[in-house]
Amino acid sequence: MHFDILTLFPEMFSGPFGTSILGKAQENGLLSVDLWNIRDYAIDKHRVVDDTPYGGGAGMVFKPDVLVRAIEEVKKDSSAPVIYLTPQGKVFNQQIAQELSTLPRIILLSGHYEEIDERVRRGWIDQELSIGDYVLTGGELPAMVLVDAIARLLPGVLGDEDSAEQDSFSNGLLDCPHYTRPAQFRGVSVPDVLLSGHHEKIRVWRLKEALRRTWLRRPDLLGLKELSAEENLILEEIKKETSVEGRFKDNESN
Ligand code: SAM
Repeated sequence: MHFDILTLFPEMFSGPFGTSILGKAQENGLLSVDLWNIRDYAIDKHRVVDDTPYGGGAGMVFKPDVLVRAIEEVKKDSSAPVIYLTPQGKVFNQQIAQELSTLPRIILLSGHYEEIDERVRRGWIDQELSIGDYVLTGGELPAMVLVDAIARLLPGVLGDEDSAEQDSFSNGLLDCPHYTRPAQFRGVSVPDVLLSGHHEKIRVWRLKEALRRTWLRRPDLLGLKELSAEENLILEEIKKETSVEGRFKDNESN
């Protein structure tokens, strides 16, 4: 998969993209990233990319001519969608990451200043995505978030293919708790079933704990998921086991 990222600050990407899983995935040819410096498309002497807003008020506005020159250059000969990162967009989630991971290429536009000129939004943007209901200084961190979430779904990027499938949200539930050695740590033991070697019992335990965690922390997710007969039975069991106070306490500790 190929990512084109339009930004005023290409240097911000070198740490996250050059390290760990994203770095290795690029070395192995599983994904590629081109960073486009929007300032290169400002053609005046001072390479100005922003201007004051019509109507007055605080903040500057990203100039439309510069942005459109940059977008048209990147988009040349390509039908890849242009995605603008903005707090006003649809909130990005695992399902959108999965959908985007099936595309061969996407173009990400990182904004800056108070806003981009509205005419760019109307004429040159295919999709708007937000990474949450808060406002950042620029679209660079959101672009990194998207690339990371999408890249780890591409075949071969994660060492163990199964690990993305078991993650929170992949099957509509939060992930189950995990443990590693030692079996006893500061007086707390690993649940016996995980040491039993009994694969079916371990599968059911993991499913139950994923359901329990989702019910306690994100009951909204259960409303969106079609539960299997087995999941419904287990959920009834959990509800009987867990007191209302217990549920309240767990929510508070999040
Ligand atoms: N005035 C805009 C508003 O209230 O919607 C916020 C502009 S913000 C200061 C500057 C840029 O940061 C935006 O153009 C966008 O690219 C990026 N940005 C900020 N918060 C974001 C978020 N939650 N998700 C995606 N992009 C965001």
